[in-house]
Amino acid sequence: MKETPMTTTREWHLVRRPRGEPLDKDFALVETPLAPLDDGEILVRNTFLSVDPYMRGRMNDVKSYVPAFQLDQPMDGGAIGVVVQVGGSATDATGREVVKGDTVLHGLGWRSHAVLPARRARVVDAALAPAQAWLGVLGMPGLTAYVGLTRIAQLREGERVFVSAAAGAVGSLVGQIARLKGASLVVGSAGGPEKTRWLTDDAGFDRAVDYKATPIGTGLKEAAPEGIDVYFDNVGADHLEAAISSLRPNGRAAICGMIARYNDTEAAPGPRNMAMIIGKRLTLRGFIVSDHDDLRPQFEEEVGGWLREGKIVWRETVVEGIDQAVAGFRSLLSGGNTGKMLIRL
Ligand code: NDP
Repeated sequence: MKETPMTTTREWHLVRRPRGEPLDKDFALVETPLAPLDDGEILVRNTFLSVDPYMRGRMNDVKSYVPAFQLDQPMDGGAIGVVVQVGGSATDATGREVVKGDTVLHGLGWRSHAVLPARRARVVDAALAPAQAWLGVLGMPGLTAYVGLTRIAQLREGERVFVSAAAGAVGSLVGQIARLKGASLVVGSAGGPEKTRWLTDDAGFDRAVDYKATPIGTGLKEAAPEGIDVYFDNVGADHLEAAISSLRPNGRAAICGMIARYNDTEAAPGPRNMAMIIGKRLTLRGFIVSDHDDLRPQFEEEVGGWLREGKIVWRETVVEGIDQAVAGFRSLLSGGNTGKMLIRL
């Protein structure tokens, strides 16, 4: 039997594909009625929306590992919300019964309310950390840090690690996991003194380079004079070039993101020192977190344990209101966040 939901939703549509930096006029906030609930579906009132750098790629009309956003259609992405209505009986992705009032993690973000099959959502444990942590430290960015460092770069105890965009959601966790896994030196780069101070004073990094004050190549050489064994790349461009120069023989790089290039309108030249990859026997390996879901239980147990024991610090930057979601996304691309960037509804 169909149940009629009580509400409409406000959702963000992409109305024009950005060229370069996304502009406000590339998006529209649209009010639409919600479909009636089928058996097994839930109506969720979203409380937090995730904005993430990979969404910039989805705004381009190109084939990639994740489908492009369609023009004049709602965008999607990670979200946390509260179940306000259940159609018939419903179970989540883990087989757990979903009831009104449950807090769920799901993929229909960029909107105030969502109707979706309950099996595409997951009831979250809000006792371990505030619910929105499932969009950050316990969610996709956290898993990305864990996968990149352990499976892709295969970090070993005693190694020296460098991570770029270190004050962000992924990077701040990379440095802390490296420390907890026995790295002998953890260096991060970030834009501005406030971020670098947070890294060394609170997040346990040994050294932090403000790449806006010192060219990253020089800064990295000063911070890690004996070189690095592992580089976790979130930035690409000058940061990747600096890391290739600083990597020691047999060093590894987990190529996670290249945010310095996401707004480029033309292909940019690569690092000028690629030939060093040969002589130093380096391994540079790209990865996509969604291919590594098998590590999620291990990640949740290990990182969840560290959270419980207070061994991990995490921050979030919260932008208020669905009207500000695009502003929050744009700010993320230019470094307006420390830790996870979130939109609170
Ligand atoms: P962040 O929280 O790190 O936010 C992005 C940060 O990038 C900004 O805060 C800004 O920090 C930095 N930045 C922006 N432009 C530049 C630039 N030109 N040079 C140097 N830094 C820049 O985002 P996430 O933690 O969510 O993502 C980090 C990276 O990981 C991204 O590249 C993303 O695409 C990638 N990623 C990849 C995944 C995968 O499966 N491969 C999954 C998830 C994320 P600052 O102020 O320091 O400049």
